[in-house]
Amino acid sequence: MPDDAMPRTMRSAQALVAAGLLDPAAEAAVARVAERYAIAVTPAVAGLIGAPDDPIGRQYIPDAAELITAPDEIEDPTADAPFTPVKGVVRRYPDRALLKPLLACPVYCRFCFRREVVGPDGGLLTEAELAAALDWLAATPAIREVILTGGDPLMLSPRRLSALMRAFGQIPHLEIVRVHSRVPVADPARVTPELVAALDSDKAFFLCVHANHAREFSAEAAAALRRLSRAGVPLLGQSVLLRGVNDSPETLEDLFRAMLRCRVKPYYLHQLDKAPGTARFRVPAEEGLALVEGLRGRISGLAQPTYVTETPGGGGKVPVRRAG
Ligand SMILES: *Cc1c(COP(=O)(O)O)cnc(C)c1O
Ligand code: SF4
Repeated sequence: MPDDAMPRTMRSAQALVAAGLLDPAAEAAVARVAERYAIAVTPAVAGLIGAPDDPIGRQYIPDAAELITAPDEIEDPTADAPFTPVKGVVRRYPDRALLKPLLACPVYCRFCFRREVVGPDGGLLTEAELAAALDWLAATPAIREVILTGGDPLMLSPRRLSALMRAFGQIPHLEIVRVHSRVPVADPARVTPELVAALDSDKAFFLCVHANHAREFSAEAAAALRRLSRAGVPLLGQSVLLRGVNDSPETLEDLFRAMLRCRVKPYYLHQLDKAPGTARFRVPAEEGLALVEGLRGRISGLAQPTYVTETPGGGGKVPVRRAG
């Protein structure tokens, strides 16, 4: 196939309309949303969308409502900024820290808690900034675990990823390297043998895959996860509880069963953070608790994630509990 006939990632309201994924009547409003929040829909994801408001379309197709900030929504809901000792690092716990080498993602989720900062042309740490972040890790012996996040770390080239793995290997007190990524489901073709080889590490290595609906585990995604698992990478799953995406007992059950079939152990189910313009996705905690409690006994214990929420002000993740 000639190069210009290859399907491309859609990055504008116009491209979504042209692909039949957006009503032409909504194009102008969504173009305004795109001035503030990045759009990306990979061909792999576009192929899973039946309608803009189906459980896959809702996650990625922008909506005019994103420009309305509810009174309880804030820009940095997990309070990363006050816990940043050096650019690109967030340390909220004594023994582990996040490292955000870039802020690009394969797709841009409409409910993202970092939506004010993620985007295609921002956030790649310069060589000097990355060196400073690695120096901080090396100089902070209490840190046993580094968690690569972003953006999406698997958007880095295999060359850069293997350089990072080598750098971590040289820090004696680091025991665990964890990567959080949406790439295996959102752009499975990126999980090439070269990328898998680049993740080879002297440290214990875990990959946590973000997915919210069983249909995201397409045949291509399953094959990408199999390549990782064959290389010995333990796979964990993280999901966000989202209205209209996975807010029923059946969809949650299907999601966690699909994860297990792909050798992904459900780790966390997140209560949605209150980022601006995400009200249409909110599920109250009492409803979430009832859904999660309903899973007990119905599906394998292996398939049960912990339902967690962020403590306001940056206190970290805690299990969701009933008020009072
Ligand atoms: C979520 C998070 C972690 C990881 O928490 P776990 O409960 O170990 O998965 C670490 N640091 C920060 C700042 C986080 O937000
Ligand atoms: S992949 Fe993660 S960081 Fe990127 S837009 Fe989605 S939720 Fe946000």
